[in-house]
Amino acid sequence: MTHVITLLCTREGDCVEVCPVDCIIPGPKGDPDWGVLFWIDPDTCIDCGACVPVCPPEAIFPEEDVPAEYEADIARNAAYFTEGPGYWDYDLDEQRH
Ligand code: SF4
Ligand code: SF4
Repeated sequence: MTHVITLLCTREGDCVEVCPVDCIIPGPKGDPDWGVLFWIDPDTCIDCGACVPVCPPEAIFPEEDVPAEYEADIARNAAYFTEGPGYWDYDLDEQRH
């Protein structure tokens, strides 16, 4: 299982700072396909839940609790790492908001 970031994400960046396995990555700001959200790598997430309470807009859910209207975001988080930019060398403060 994994946790999932949904379209509720406002790119605050707080989740990145608490993830113990560094599996939350910002979609590059300005990228028309991937720049809207931060994304969680489902292959690396250990389901610790640390990111959930620090997210101001409450955008992060365990996969099994993702609201129906955001269900497509489950596949989008995974696709970011298989079809999108994936991991990259970024400056968190530049990527916030
Ligand atoms: S803390 Fe929430 S709003 Fe901020 S980047 Fe993470 S998921 Fe997005
Ligand atoms: S649940 Fe834990 S391991 Fe998974 S993204 Fe959130 S902080 Fe990282």
